[in-house]
Amino acid sequence: MSARESIIPVFVPHLGCPNDCVFCNQRRISGAMEPATAEDVKKAIADAAALPYIGAKRQLAFYGGSFTAIPSCQMLSLLNAAKEALDEGSITSVRLSTRPDAIDGEILNTLAAHGVETIELGAQSLDDEVLLLSGRGHTAADVENASRLIKERGFRLILQMMTGLPGDTAEKSIETAKRIIALNPDGVRIYPTVIVRDTALFDLWQAGEYSPHTVEDAVRVCARLVPMFEKAGIPIIRLGLNPTEELSGGMAAAGAYHPALGELVKSRIMLEKAMAILKDTEPETHVVLGVHPSKVSQMTGQKKSNIEALMSMYSLASLKVKPADCEKDEILIISLEKDEKS
Ligand code: SF4
Repeated sequence: MSARESIIPVFVPHLGCPNDCVFCNQRRISGAMEPATAEDVKKAIADAAALPYIGAKRQLAFYGGSFTAIPSCQMLSLLNAAKEALDEGSITSVRLSTRPDAIDGEILNTLAAHGVETIELGAQSLDDEVLLLSGRGHTAADVENASRLIKERGFRLILQMMTGLPGDTAEKSIETAKRIIALNPDGVRIYPTVIVRDTALFDLWQAGEYSPHTVEDAVRVCARLVPMFEKAGIPIIRLGLNPTEELSGGMAAAGAYHPALGELVKSRIMLEKAMAILKDTEPETHVVLGVHPSKVSQMTGQKKSNIEALMSMYSLASLKVKPADCEKDEILIISLEKDEKS
């Protein structure tokens, strides 16, 4: 999505979802209680049109729930409102999110006939044990079959994956990422698990049957996933739940909830690159590193955490980070100097 595209969100909370995934409490996350109607769609589009900063490209996005699993008359009513807006030119594209087991050829025909451009699938994991323990109600094969059908029909495909679900490990998350890359999606969202109140996962945690996936756990595993997607040329549209007042206000009881999780991960990736560069540096060396100007704060880390970690790991006398004329993924050694012995 370019900077000039605007998203017009319509929440379809838990509507039609046959499942109870352990981590999900969509009504609370979306803040919306009532199923969306065609009138809601029209109102969202009209409200967006009145905004001064609306872009030339306007994407209507049906978020949440399992859009293609809702009763067909409700789905058609929402899609008809979207198609009407598309035909009028008040929106330029439509996207929706759904479950992998709620996709088949007939549903895709309906979505294509109503001008849907992008389908977002909640894959979450491609490990069947993780899917089972998380109450997802579908298998890894369902994700792969639905993804292939969606791509074959020419839709844009976005896949969501989670880390830290019950039964998950860093290795399983990496394997999931490999299998997602093999499906060649047009983008991914990575959501490390957050324990939201009033969910089955919250109860499991309270009963001592689930250990939270901490922010540190999430940063560590995502620092391995992000370079995999980047190398494959697959954009990461989102990393971590969007911060909301509800989540920050206590609804996120534990787990990998951090308003700047993506930045923490990028900062960790820079730390690991610097570690590889500095690993043979002698103690008491004064080091100056150069990075792309946009990467200085990521290299420095929150509250200088990367500087302190590197200084301590290699017993450096000092470490400075300066903007340099280099690529975004590069770290240059500008100088390495030892104190003169008197
Ligand atoms: S399928 Fe989606 S909406 Fe349904 S319970 Fe799971 S996460 Fe929630």
